[in-house]
Amino acid sequence: MNNELLEPLHTVITRGKPVPREDVPAALEAGRFIVERVQEPTTCPTCGEGVILVDDTEDRFEIRCHNNHFETIPTADRLRYAPDFEQVLSAVAADLGQTVVAFDGQHLPRFARAETDQGTVLYLIYAPRDYRATVKQIYEDAIDRGQPALLITPRDEITDIVELQFLFSVGHLVQAVPFTKLDNPSLLNQTLKTAEEVEALGQDVMEQRFASSPGMVRERANANPQYILSILSNIRMLRENGEITPGSGDLLEETAEAVFMHLFPTQPDRGGEADVGQNLPDNVFYLWEEGSYKHTDYEPVLGIVDTKSGSTANFAKEKAAGKHDNYLDFARKLAFKQGAVAHIFVVLDIDGQQEINYFDRIREDYAENMYMVVLTLDALTTIFAAYLSSVVSNELKLGATSFTRAIYPFFHRDTFNADQHTDLRRQFRTVGRFQDDYQMALLERSDLLVINRDTVITRFRNLVDEDTEIEEILGRYFK
Ligand SMILES: [Zn+2]
Repeated sequence: MNNELLEPLHTVITRGKPVPREDVPAALEAGRFIVERVQEPTTCPTCGEGVILVDDTEDRFEIRCHNNHFETIPTADRLRYAPDFEQVLSAVAADLGQTVVAFDGQHLPRFARAETDQGTVLYLIYAPRDYRATVKQIYEDAIDRGQPALLITPRDEITDIVELQFLFSVGHLVQAVPFTKLDNPSLLNQTLKTAEEVEALGQDVMEQRFASSPGMVRERANANPQYILSILSNIRMLRENGEITPGSGDLLEETAEAVFMHLFPTQPDRGGEADVGQNLPDNVFYLWEEGSYKHTDYEPVLGIVDTKSGSTANFAKEKAAGKHDNYLDFARKLAFKQGAVAHIFVVLDIDGQQEINYFDRIREDYAENMYMVVLTLDALTTIFAAYLSSVVSNELKLGATSFTRAIYPFFHRDTFNADQHTDLRRQFRTVGRFQDDYQMALLERSDLLVINRDTVITRFRNLVDEDTEIEEILGRYFK
Protein backbone atom coordinates (compact mmCIF):
# COMPACT_ATOMS: atom_id res chain seq x y z
CA MET A 1 0.00 0.00 0.00
CA ASN A 2 1.50 3.33 -0.91
CA ASN A 3 2.49 5.89 1.66
CA GLU A 4 0.06 8.58 0.59
CA LEU A 5 -2.81 6.29 1.54
CA LEU A 6 -1.26 4.52 4.48
CA GLU A 7 -1.05 7.41 6.90
CA PRO A 8 -4.53 8.89 6.21
CA LEU A 9 -6.10 5.45 6.37
CA HIS A 10 -4.31 4.71 9.60
CA THR A 11 -5.76 7.93 10.98
CA VAL A 12 -9.37 7.10 10.13
CA ILE A 13 -9.00 3.51 11.30
CA THR A 14 -7.43 4.57 14.59
CA ARG A 15 -10.33 6.97 15.19
CA GLY A 16 -12.56 3.95 15.34
CA LYS A 17 -15.79 5.61 14.26
CA PRO A 18 -17.25 7.27 11.17
CA VAL A 19 -16.24 10.92 10.92
CA PRO A 20 -17.78 14.05 9.31
CA ARG A 21 -16.55 15.27 5.95
CA GLU A 22 -14.16 17.85 7.38
CA ASP A 23 -12.31 15.19 9.37
CA VAL A 24 -11.60 13.02 6.34
CA PRO A 25 -7.92 13.38 5.42
CA ALA A 26 -7.44 15.12 2.09
CA ALA A 27 -5.88 12.10 0.40
CA LEU A 28 -9.06 10.09 0.89
CA GLU A 29 -12.41 10.59 -0.70
CA ALA A 30 -15.67 8.69 -0.83
CA GLY A 31 -15.38 5.72 -3.13
CA ARG A 32 -11.67 5.54 -2.62
CA PHE A 33 -11.04 3.50 0.55
CA ILE A 34 -13.80 5.47 2.25
CA VAL A 35 -17.54 4.82 2.32
CA GLU A 36 -20.15 7.47 2.84
CA ARG A 37 -23.13 6.72 4.98
CA VAL A 38 -26.00 8.65 6.50
CA GLN A 39 -26.05 8.54 10.27
CA GLU A 40 -29.28 9.33 12.05
CA PRO A 41 -28.97 12.19 14.53
CA THR A 42 -28.74 11.03 18.14
CA THR A 43 -28.31 14.31 20.00
CA CYS A 44 -29.99 17.68 19.90
CA PRO A 45 -27.91 20.40 18.18
CA THR A 46 -29.30 23.00 20.63
CA CYS A 47 -28.92 21.34 24.04
CA GLY A 48 -27.09 18.07 23.39
CA GLU A 49 -29.87 15.91 24.87
CA GLY A 50 -30.95 12.63 23.31
CA VAL A 51 -33.51 12.87 20.55
CA ILE A 52 -36.48 11.05 19.08
CA LEU A 53 -36.74 10.84 15.34
CA VAL A 54 -40.09 12.34 14.34
CA ASP A 55 -39.76 12.11 10.59
CA ASP A 56 -37.13 11.56 8.00
CA THR A 57 -37.23 12.25 4.30
CA GLU A 58 -34.65 12.05 1.59
CA ASP A 59 -32.99 15.36 2.46
CA ARG A 60 -33.76 16.03 6.14
CA PHE A 61 -34.43 14.63 9.61
CA GLU A 62 -37.15 16.00 11.89
CA ILE A 63 -36.29 15.46 15.54
CA ARG A 64 -37.58 16.27 18.98
CA CYS A 65 -35.26 16.25 21.97
CA HIS A 66 -36.01 15.44 25.61
CA ASN A 67 -36.11 19.19 26.29
CA ASN A 68 -38.77 19.49 23.61
CA HIS A 69 -36.71 21.29 21.04
CA PHE A 70 -38.03 20.59 17.55
CA GLU A 71 -35.24 20.67 14.99
CA THR A 72 -34.77 20.07 11.30
CA ILE A 73 -31.40 18.62 10.38
CA PRO A 74 -30.36 18.41 6.72
CA THR A 75 -29.34 14.90 5.67
CA ALA A 76 -26.18 16.45 4.20
CA ASP A 77 -25.12 17.36 7.77
CA ARG A 78 -25.43 13.74 8.79
CA LEU A 79 -23.08 12.28 6.21
CA ARG A 80 -20.30 10.30 7.86
CA TYR A 81 -17.25 8.63 6.40
CA ALA A 82 -15.76 5.31 7.43
CA PRO A 83 -12.96 3.16 6.07
CA ASP A 84 -13.99 0.87 3.25
CA PHE A 85 -12.56 -2.29 4.76
CA GLU A 86 -13.14 -4.38 1.69
CA GLN A 87 -11.08 -1.97 -0.41
CA VAL A 88 -8.40 -1.72 2.25
CA LEU A 89 -8.03 -5.50 2.53
CA SER A 90 -8.15 -5.84 -1.25
CA ALA A 91 -5.21 -3.46 -1.47
CA VAL A 92 -3.29 -5.52 1.11
CA ALA A 93 -4.07 -8.68 -0.84
CA ALA A 94 -2.88 -7.04 -4.06
CA ASP A 95 0.43 -6.24 -2.37
CA LEU A 96 0.74 -9.93 -1.62
CA GLY A 97 0.00 -10.75 -5.24
CA GLN A 98 -3.39 -12.17 -4.24
CA THR A 99 -7.02 -11.31 -4.87
CA VAL A 100 -9.81 -11.06 -2.31
CA VAL A 101 -12.55 -13.55 -3.13
CA ALA A 102 -14.69 -13.18 -0.02
CA PHE A 103 -15.20 -10.32 2.40
CA ASP A 104 -16.96 -10.48 5.73
CA GLY A 105 -17.80 -7.32 7.66
CA GLN A 106 -20.30 -8.85 10.07
CA HIS A 107 -17.89 -8.72 13.01
CA LEU A 108 -17.49 -4.95 12.70
CA PRO A 109 -16.81 -3.12 14.88
CA ARG A 110 -14.07 -5.43 16.15
CA PHE A 111 -12.63 -6.80 12.96
CA ALA A 112 -13.13 -7.21 9.24
CA ARG A 113 -12.09 -10.39 7.47
CA ALA A 114 -11.23 -11.18 3.88
CA GLU A 115 -10.14 -14.37 2.20
CA THR A 116 -7.94 -14.45 -0.89
CA ASP A 117 -7.83 -16.68 -3.95
CA GLN A 118 -4.74 -18.32 -2.46
CA GLY A 119 -6.37 -19.21 0.82
CA THR A 120 -4.83 -16.46 2.91
CA VAL A 121 -7.09 -14.87 5.49
CA LEU A 122 -6.68 -11.18 6.28
CA TYR A 123 -7.99 -9.71 9.51
CA LEU A 124 -8.14 -6.01 10.25
CA ILE A 125 -8.91 -4.90 13.78
CA TYR A 126 -11.20 -1.87 14.00
CA ALA A 127 -12.59 -0.18 17.06
CA PRO A 128 -12.81 -3.17 19.37
CA ARG A 129 -14.27 -2.53 22.81
CA ASP A 130 -11.91 -5.14 24.23
CA TYR A 131 -8.70 -5.46 22.24
CA ARG A 132 -7.40 -8.67 23.77
CA ALA A 133 -10.76 -10.38 23.52
CA THR A 134 -10.91 -9.41 19.87
CA VAL A 135 -7.44 -10.79 19.20
CA LYS A 136 -8.47 -14.05 20.83
CA GLN A 137 -11.60 -14.18 18.77
CA ILE A 138 -9.53 -13.74 15.63
CA TYR A 139 -7.18 -16.54 16.69
CA GLU A 140 -10.09 -18.85 17.25
CA ASP A 141 -11.53 -17.97 13.89
CA ALA A 142 -8.17 -18.47 12.16
CA ILE A 143 -7.56 -21.79 13.86
CA ASP A 144 -11.03 -23.00 12.93
CA ARG A 145 -10.22 -22.23 9.35
CA GLY A 146 -6.73 -23.69 9.49
CA GLN A 147 -5.48 -21.22 6.90
CA PRO A 148 -2.44 -18.94 7.12
CA ALA A 149 -3.54 -15.50 8.23
CA LEU A 150 -2.32 -11.95 8.61
CA LEU A 151 -3.71 -10.05 11.56
CA ILE A 152 -3.47 -6.32 10.93
CA THR A 153 -3.68 -4.11 13.97
CA PRO A 154 -4.11 -0.31 14.06
CA ARG A 155 -1.80 -0.29 17.08
CA ASP A 156 1.87 0.42 16.65
CA GLU A 157 2.97 -2.59 18.62
CA ILE A 158 2.31 -6.30 18.27
CA THR A 159 3.76 -7.44 21.59
CA ASP A 160 0.24 -7.82 23.04
CA ILE A 161 -0.73 -10.10 20.21
CA VAL A 162 2.41 -12.20 20.30
CA GLU A 163 1.93 -12.70 24.03
CA LEU A 164 -1.56 -14.04 23.45
CA GLN A 165 -0.34 -16.47 20.82
CA PHE A 166 0.97 -19.05 23.20
CA LEU A 167 -2.57 -19.68 24.35
CA PHE A 168 -3.30 -21.21 20.99
CA SER A 169 -1.95 -24.41 19.57
CA VAL A 170 -1.24 -23.22 16.07
CA GLY A 171 0.19 -19.79 16.73
CA HIS A 172 2.35 -19.85 13.64
CA LEU A 173 -0.76 -19.75 11.43
CA VAL A 174 -1.45 -16.15 12.44
CA GLN A 175 1.09 -13.44 11.81
CA ALA A 176 0.58 -10.02 13.35
CA VAL A 177 1.32 -6.85 11.39
CA PRO A 178 0.96 -3.23 12.48
CA PHE A 179 -1.10 -1.25 9.98
CA THR A 180 1.78 1.19 9.62
CA LYS A 181 3.93 -1.60 8.18
CA LEU A 182 1.57 -2.24 5.27
CA ASP A 183 3.77 -0.09 3.05
CA ASN A 184 6.34 -2.90 2.98
CA PRO A 185 4.97 -5.69 0.75
CA SER A 186 8.15 -7.74 0.82
CA LEU A 187 8.05 -7.81 4.61
CA LEU A 188 4.41 -8.91 4.44
CA ASN A 189 5.22 -11.61 1.96
CA GLN A 190 8.06 -12.96 4.06
CA THR A 191 5.86 -12.89 7.12
CA LEU A 192 3.19 -14.91 5.43
CA LYS A 193 5.49 -17.32 3.69
CA THR A 194 6.69 -19.42 6.58
CA ALA A 195 3.20 -20.09 7.84
CA GLU A 196 2.10 -20.97 4.33
CA GLU A 197 4.95 -23.36 3.62
CA VAL A 198 4.56 -25.28 6.83
CA GLU A 199 0.83 -25.37 6.36
CA ALA A 200 1.16 -26.58 2.76
CA LEU A 201 3.49 -29.34 3.80
CA GLY A 202 1.08 -30.37 6.53
CA GLN A 203 -1.78 -30.42 4.03
CA ASP A 204 0.09 -32.63 1.58
CA VAL A 205 0.83 -35.08 4.31
CA MET A 206 -2.77 -35.07 5.45
CA GLU A 207 -4.01 -35.70 1.96
CA GLN A 208 -1.61 -38.55 1.43
CA ARG A 209 -2.30 -40.27 4.69
CA PHE A 210 -5.74 -39.30 5.79
CA ALA A 211 -7.50 -38.45 2.57
CA SER A 212 -10.83 -39.74 3.87
CA SER A 213 -11.38 -37.74 7.04
CA PRO A 214 -8.76 -35.11 7.63
CA GLY A 215 -10.91 -33.00 9.94
CA MET A 216 -10.53 -34.86 13.19
CA VAL A 217 -6.99 -35.97 12.62
CA ARG A 218 -5.93 -32.45 11.80
CA GLU A 219 -7.21 -31.26 15.12
CA ARG A 220 -5.22 -33.79 17.04
CA ALA A 221 -2.25 -33.61 14.77
CA ASN A 222 -1.49 -29.97 15.06
CA ALA A 223 -0.21 -30.83 18.47
CA ASN A 224 1.12 -28.07 20.66
CA PRO A 225 3.45 -25.67 18.96
CA GLN A 226 4.45 -23.52 21.86
CA TYR A 227 5.49 -20.08 22.77
CA ILE A 228 8.86 -20.55 21.10
CA LEU A 229 7.28 -20.95 17.72
CA SER A 230 5.11 -17.89 18.00
CA ILE A 231 8.12 -15.85 19.05
CA LEU A 232 10.19 -17.25 16.21
CA SER A 233 7.57 -16.54 13.64
CA ASN A 234 7.17 -12.99 14.88
CA ILE A 235 10.78 -12.04 15.48
CA ARG A 236 11.17 -10.39 12.11
CA MET A 237 8.14 -8.18 12.62
CA LEU A 238 9.09 -7.37 16.21
CA ARG A 239 12.51 -6.36 14.97
CA GLU A 240 11.19 -4.28 12.05
CA ASN A 241 8.80 -2.59 14.40
CA GLY A 242 11.53 -1.63 16.84
CA GLU A 243 10.08 -3.80 19.61
CA ILE A 244 13.37 -5.65 19.89
CA THR A 245 16.01 -3.09 20.65
CA PRO A 246 18.92 -3.18 18.24
CA GLY A 247 21.96 -4.81 19.68
CA SER A 248 20.16 -6.64 22.44
CA GLY A 249 20.07 -9.77 20.39
CA ASP A 250 18.73 -11.65 23.36
CA LEU A 251 15.37 -12.69 22.04
CA LEU A 252 16.70 -14.41 18.94
CA GLU A 253 19.56 -15.89 20.89
CA GLU A 254 17.43 -17.27 23.67
CA THR A 255 14.77 -18.49 21.32
CA ALA A 256 17.25 -20.16 18.99
CA GLU A 257 18.84 -21.78 21.99
CA ALA A 258 15.49 -23.08 23.15
CA VAL A 259 14.87 -24.50 19.70
CA PHE A 260 18.18 -26.33 19.63
CA MET A 261 17.52 -27.72 23.07
CA HIS A 262 14.26 -29.13 21.79
CA LEU A 263 15.66 -30.50 18.59
CA PHE A 264 18.83 -32.12 19.76
CA PRO A 265 19.90 -34.31 22.58
CA THR A 266 21.95 -32.07 24.78
CA GLN A 267 23.30 -34.73 27.07
CA PRO A 268 26.34 -36.20 25.43
CA ASP A 269 27.12 -38.11 28.61
CA ARG A 270 24.70 -40.74 27.38
CA GLY A 271 27.51 -41.77 25.12
CA GLY A 272 29.93 -42.05 27.99
CA GLU A 273 31.49 -38.65 27.51
CA ALA A 274 30.36 -36.95 30.66
CA ASP A 275 33.52 -34.90 30.84
CA VAL A 276 32.57 -33.22 27.60
CA GLY A 277 29.02 -32.62 28.73
CA GLN A 278 30.00 -30.79 31.87
CA ASN A 279 32.14 -28.34 29.98
CA LEU A 280 29.68 -27.52 27.26
CA PRO A 281 28.70 -23.86 27.19
CA ASP A 282 25.06 -22.98 26.52
CA ASN A 283 25.45 -22.18 22.88
CA VAL A 284 26.68 -25.59 21.93
CA PHE A 285 24.61 -28.59 21.02
CA TYR A 286 25.36 -32.06 20.05
CA LEU A 287 23.68 -33.71 17.12
CA TRP A 288 23.90 -37.27 18.06
CA GLU A 289 21.95 -40.45 18.14
CA GLU A 290 22.49 -43.35 20.42
CA GLY A 291 24.94 -45.72 18.84
CA SER A 292 25.91 -43.35 16.09
CA TYR A 293 29.36 -42.65 17.48
CA LYS A 294 31.96 -43.71 14.92
CA HIS A 295 29.28 -44.53 12.39
CA THR A 296 30.47 -43.08 9.14
CA ASP A 297 26.95 -42.73 7.76
CA TYR A 298 25.78 -40.80 10.80
CA GLU A 299 28.70 -39.00 12.24
CA PRO A 300 27.99 -37.03 15.43
CA VAL A 301 28.03 -33.27 14.92
CA LEU A 302 29.09 -30.72 17.48
CA GLY A 303 27.20 -27.49 16.78
CA ILE A 304 28.58 -24.17 18.00
CA VAL A 305 25.90 -21.54 17.66
CA ASP A 306 26.07 -17.79 17.21
CA THR A 307 22.96 -15.69 16.64
CA LYS A 308 22.71 -12.41 14.80
CA SER A 309 19.52 -10.53 15.44
CA GLY A 310 20.27 -7.27 13.67
CA SER A 311 17.73 -6.77 10.91
CA THR A 312 20.54 -7.73 8.58
CA ALA A 313 23.35 -9.91 9.76
CA ASN A 314 26.37 -7.70 9.68
CA PHE A 315 29.01 -10.19 8.72
CA ALA A 316 31.15 -7.45 7.24
CA LYS A 317 31.75 -5.86 10.63
CA GLU A 318 32.12 -9.15 12.40
CA LYS A 319 35.76 -9.78 13.09
CA ALA A 320 36.92 -13.26 12.39
CA ALA A 321 38.97 -12.96 15.55
CA GLY A 322 37.40 -12.10 18.89
CA LYS A 323 34.68 -13.97 20.64
CA HIS A 324 34.69 -16.65 17.99
CA ASP A 325 38.23 -17.49 18.98
CA ASN A 326 36.82 -18.94 22.17
CA TYR A 327 34.35 -21.00 20.22
CA LEU A 328 36.99 -22.16 17.84
CA ASP A 329 39.46 -23.02 20.58
CA PHE A 330 36.76 -24.88 22.37
CA ALA A 331 35.81 -26.68 19.20
CA ARG A 332 39.36 -27.66 18.41
CA LYS A 333 39.77 -29.17 21.87
CA LEU A 334 36.75 -31.33 21.30
CA ALA A 335 37.34 -31.94 17.64
CA PHE A 336 39.44 -35.04 18.14
CA LYS A 337 36.49 -36.71 19.80
CA GLN A 338 33.84 -35.55 17.39
CA GLY A 339 33.54 -36.36 13.79
CA ALA A 340 32.35 -32.99 12.66
CA VAL A 341 32.15 -29.47 14.09
CA ALA A 342 29.57 -27.09 12.69
CA HIS A 343 30.07 -23.37 13.34
CA ILE A 344 26.47 -22.20 13.07
CA PHE A 345 25.16 -18.70 12.54
CA VAL A 346 21.47 -18.10 13.05
CA VAL A 347 20.54 -14.94 11.17
CA LEU A 348 17.48 -12.85 10.42
CA ASP A 349 18.70 -11.60 7.06
CA ILE A 350 21.96 -11.21 5.28
CA ASP A 351 23.04 -8.12 3.38
CA GLY A 352 24.11 -9.05 -0.12
CA GLN A 353 26.66 -11.84 -0.13
CA GLN A 354 28.36 -11.05 3.14
CA GLU A 355 28.43 -14.60 4.37
CA ILE A 356 30.80 -15.52 1.54
CA ASN A 357 33.36 -12.86 2.47
CA TYR A 358 33.09 -13.67 6.13
CA PHE A 359 33.51 -17.33 5.47
CA ASP A 360 36.58 -16.70 3.35
CA ARG A 361 38.18 -14.79 6.20
CA ILE A 362 37.41 -17.27 8.95
CA ARG A 363 37.92 -20.55 7.11
CA GLU A 364 41.66 -20.62 7.74
CA ASP A 365 40.96 -20.79 11.46
CA TYR A 366 38.89 -23.90 10.96
CA ALA A 367 40.26 -27.31 11.64
CA GLU A 368 39.75 -29.75 8.84
CA ASN A 369 36.60 -31.23 10.28
CA MET A 370 35.03 -27.80 10.81
CA TYR A 371 32.71 -25.89 8.52
CA MET A 372 30.21 -23.04 8.61
CA VAL A 373 26.43 -23.31 8.61
CA VAL A 374 24.39 -20.16 8.05
CA LEU A 375 20.84 -20.86 9.15
CA THR A 376 18.23 -18.25 8.33
CA LEU A 377 15.46 -17.49 10.79
CA ASP A 378 12.91 -18.72 8.24
CA ALA A 379 14.72 -22.02 7.99
CA LEU A 380 14.87 -22.41 11.76
CA THR A 381 11.20 -21.54 12.10
CA THR A 382 10.22 -24.04 9.41
CA ILE A 383 12.25 -26.79 11.03
CA PHE A 384 10.69 -26.11 14.40
CA ALA A 385 7.15 -25.82 13.08
CA ALA A 386 7.58 -29.18 11.38
CA TYR A 387 9.00 -30.61 14.59
CA LEU A 388 6.03 -29.38 16.59
CA SER A 389 3.46 -30.51 14.07
CA SER A 390 3.13 -34.13 15.02
CA VAL A 391 1.75 -35.08 11.62
CA VAL A 392 4.67 -33.64 9.71
CA SER A 393 7.29 -34.86 12.12
CA ASN A 394 5.80 -38.36 12.13
CA GLU A 395 5.94 -38.38 8.41
CA LEU A 396 9.52 -37.18 8.43
CA LYS A 397 10.38 -39.89 10.91
CA LEU A 398 8.91 -42.46 8.55
CA GLY A 399 11.13 -41.12 5.81
CA ALA A 400 14.27 -40.72 7.86
CA THR A 401 13.78 -42.93 10.97
CA SER A 402 14.13 -39.93 13.27
CA PHE A 403 13.54 -36.22 13.17
CA THR A 404 17.21 -35.68 13.89
CA ARG A 405 18.09 -37.63 10.79
CA ALA A 406 15.56 -35.68 8.77
CA ILE A 407 17.38 -32.45 9.54
CA TYR A 408 20.86 -33.98 9.69
CA PRO A 409 21.94 -32.84 6.18
CA PHE A 410 21.50 -29.19 7.22
CA PHE A 411 24.18 -29.58 9.87
CA HIS A 412 26.54 -32.15 8.40
CA ARG A 413 28.80 -30.96 5.62
CA ASP A 414 29.56 -34.22 3.90
CA THR A 415 25.94 -35.31 3.93
CA PHE A 416 24.82 -31.95 2.60
CA ASN A 417 27.37 -32.23 -0.21
CA ALA A 418 26.63 -35.86 -1.00
CA ASP A 419 25.30 -36.73 -4.44
CA GLN A 420 21.82 -37.61 -3.24
CA HIS A 421 21.40 -34.11 -1.79
CA THR A 422 22.51 -31.94 -4.70
CA ASP A 423 19.05 -30.39 -4.81
CA LEU A 424 19.58 -29.05 -1.28
CA ARG A 425 22.77 -27.22 -2.17
CA ARG A 426 20.95 -25.68 -5.09
CA GLN A 427 18.30 -23.94 -2.99
CA PHE A 428 19.90 -20.51 -2.99
CA ARG A 429 19.03 -17.40 -1.07
CA THR A 430 17.90 -14.53 -3.24
CA VAL A 431 20.66 -11.94 -3.06
CA GLY A 432 19.40 -9.58 -5.73
CA ARG A 433 22.31 -8.31 -7.76
CA PHE A 434 24.96 -10.78 -8.89
CA GLN A 435 22.77 -13.78 -8.14
CA ASP A 436 24.72 -15.96 -10.58
CA ASP A 437 28.07 -14.97 -9.08
CA TYR A 438 26.71 -15.72 -5.63
CA GLN A 439 25.51 -19.16 -6.61
CA MET A 440 28.83 -20.00 -8.24
CA ALA A 441 30.72 -18.78 -5.18
CA LEU A 442 28.58 -20.92 -2.93
CA LEU A 443 28.92 -24.02 -5.07
CA GLU A 444 32.69 -23.57 -4.94
CA ARG A 445 32.64 -23.50 -1.13
CA SER A 446 31.72 -26.92 0.12
CA ASP A 447 32.56 -25.86 3.69
CA LEU A 448 29.84 -23.21 3.70
CA LEU A 449 26.26 -24.41 4.07
CA VAL A 450 23.59 -21.73 3.71
CA ILE A 451 20.34 -23.21 4.90
CA ASN A 452 17.26 -21.22 3.99
CA ARG A 453 13.57 -22.03 4.05
CA ASP A 454 13.63 -23.53 0.56
CA THR A 455 16.42 -25.88 1.58
CA VAL A 456 14.34 -27.13 4.50
CA ILE A 457 11.14 -27.48 2.53
CA THR A 458 12.93 -29.32 -0.29
CA ARG A 459 14.45 -31.80 2.13
CA PHE A 460 11.15 -32.41 3.89
CA ARG A 461 9.25 -32.84 0.67
CA ASN A 462 11.81 -35.34 -0.53
CA LEU A 463 11.34 -37.37 2.63
CA VAL A 464 7.59 -37.26 2.56
CA ASP A 465 7.39 -38.24 -1.10
CA GLU A 466 9.80 -41.10 -0.66
CA ASP A 467 7.93 -42.96 2.01
CA THR A 468 5.50 -44.90 -0.17
CA GLU A 469 7.56 -48.04 0.25
CA ILE A 470 7.82 -47.59 3.95
CA GLU A 471 4.08 -47.29 4.12
CA GLU A 472 3.71 -50.51 2.18
CA ILE A 473 6.00 -52.25 4.60
CA LEU A 474 4.08 -50.92 7.56
CA GLY A 475 0.84 -51.87 5.85
CA ARG A 476 1.80 -55.55 5.90
CA TYR A 477 2.04 -55.51 9.66
CA PHE A 478 -1.40 -54.08 10.05
CA LYS A 479 -3.35 -56.39 7.76
ZN1 LIG B 1 -32.68 20.10 22.76
